[in-house]
Amino acid sequence: MTNRSDAIIRQTEKYGAANYHPLPIVISKAEGVWVEDPEGRRYMDMLSAYSALNHGHRHPHILNALLEQAGKVTLTSRAFHHDMLGEFYEKLAAYTGKEMILPMNTGAEAVETAIKAIRRWGCDVKGIPDGQTEIIVCAGNFHGRTITVTSFSSEPAYRRGFGPFTPGFRIIPYGDVEALRAAIGPNTAGFLVEPIQGEAGIIIPPAGYLRDCFELCEANRVVFAADEIQTGFGRTGRRFACDWEGVTPHLLLLGKALGGGVLPISAVAGDREVLAVFEPGSHGSTFGGNPLACAVAVAALEVLEREALAERSEVLGAGLLQRLGELRSPLIKELRGRGLFIGIELTMPARGYCEKLMGLGLLCKETHEHTIRLAPPLTITQEELIWAFQRLQAVLGTA
Ligand code: PLP
Repeated sequence: MTNRSDAIIRQTEKYGAANYHPLPIVISKAEGVWVEDPEGRRYMDMLSAYSALNHGHRHPHILNALLEQAGKVTLTSRAFHHDMLGEFYEKLAAYTGKEMILPMNTGAEAVETAIKAIRRWGCDVKGIPDGQTEIIVCAGNFHGRTITVTSFSSEPAYRRGFGPFTPGFRIIPYGDVEALRAAIGPNTAGFLVEPIQGEAGIIIPPAGYLRDCFELCEANRVVFAADEIQTGFGRTGRRFACDWEGVTPHLLLLGKALGGGVLPISAVAGDREVLAVFEPGSHGSTFGGNPLACAVAVAALEVLEREALAERSEVLGAGLLQRLGELRSPLIKELRGRGLFIGIELTMPARGYCEKLMGLGLLCKETHEHTIRLAPPLTITQEELIWAFQRLQAVLGTA
C-alpha cells in the first residue's frame, strides 16, 4: 500500500462519509472516453458519470465556452439580468420543443421544482384544494436523494431512518398503464415517470407505454412529467427517450449531460400553463441559471447537434447490443438496451465482474447488485467500442 492511489483512497475513506462504494481506482486525468490514474494506467470510462458525460471528458468546445465565459462574468445575483440567460432559455426551449425553462443545478432540484410546479398547477389551474394534490410515481423509480424525493422511493435502503416523509405520492407498478388508469383520481395533479428506469437496471417499459400514459394524462388533466435526467440528451439514441414514442411531455426534467460533463446544471422545460404558476419569490436558486452554467449548457447543446450524438448513440448502441447478444453466456440472464444505454443482468452479483473489467482497463459499475450498466460517452468511436466489447467478452463470455 505505498502507491499514490492507495494513499488517496485511504485519505478519502478516513474523512469522507461512506455514502458511496467506489471501485478502487483513482482518476486524476481524463480526456474523451479515457481516464488515467496517478500511476499512469489508462482506463475506458463506460459509465460516463451516470450519463452526465455524454459529450466525453473535457470536450474542447465546452471547455472553451467555460474558459471564455470565466473571463467575462461567472455569477450574478438573480436580482439582476445577465447576458447569457436568455440565450440559454431560447436554445433549450428549441432543443426540447417546450415553451418555458426553469434552471436549477442538480437533478434532484429539477425533480423538486417539477413537484412544486405540478402541485401548484393542481391547485391554481385544476382546482384541487391546497394540500390535497396527489402525484403518481412508479415502483423502482429513482429521482434523486432529497427527503421529498426519497419519500416516494420504493427502495427500503434509500429510506431507512430518514422519515418522517413528505406525503402526497402514490406508487404504482412501472410499465402498467392500467395501474395508472386505476390510480388517477380527482386530486391527481401529475404523473412522474422515467421513460427508461436507469438506476433500477435499465428497465425498458413495454412498447406504447409512454404514449398510452401520456394520452391518459391528457384525457384526465394530469401533468405528464418525464424524468429525462439520465435518459436525455442523446443517451438512448434520440434527443429524449420519450421521442421513441413520439411523446412530448408537459414537463421534461433535465440534468446531468446538460452540464456538458463540466458543471452541475439542471432545468425543467415545460408548458407555459404549468411553469407559469411560479411568481417572483415562490421558487429559486442562487446558482440556478448563472452565466457560467448558461454558457456551458449552450455549448453542450451545440455539441449534441453538431456531432449528432443521439444518432451515434442509436447506431453504436445497436451494434454493441447485437454483439453482446451473440455472447450467449450462461452468466448473462438478460440484456436490455436502447442506444448506448445498456444493462447486462447477470445470474450472479455483478460487483466482482466490474472489478475484473477494471483489471482489463474498462470502468463500469453494477446497479442493483446483478446488473452492469454500460453508458459510455456518446463520442466513443466504433474502434473504441470494439475494444470495450473484447474486454466484456473476455470477462463475461464464459461462466
Ligand atoms: N433522476 C434520475 C432519473 C437520475 O438518474 C438521477 C441521478 O442519477 C437523478 C434524478 C438525480 O440527479 P442528481 O444526482 O443530479 O441530483
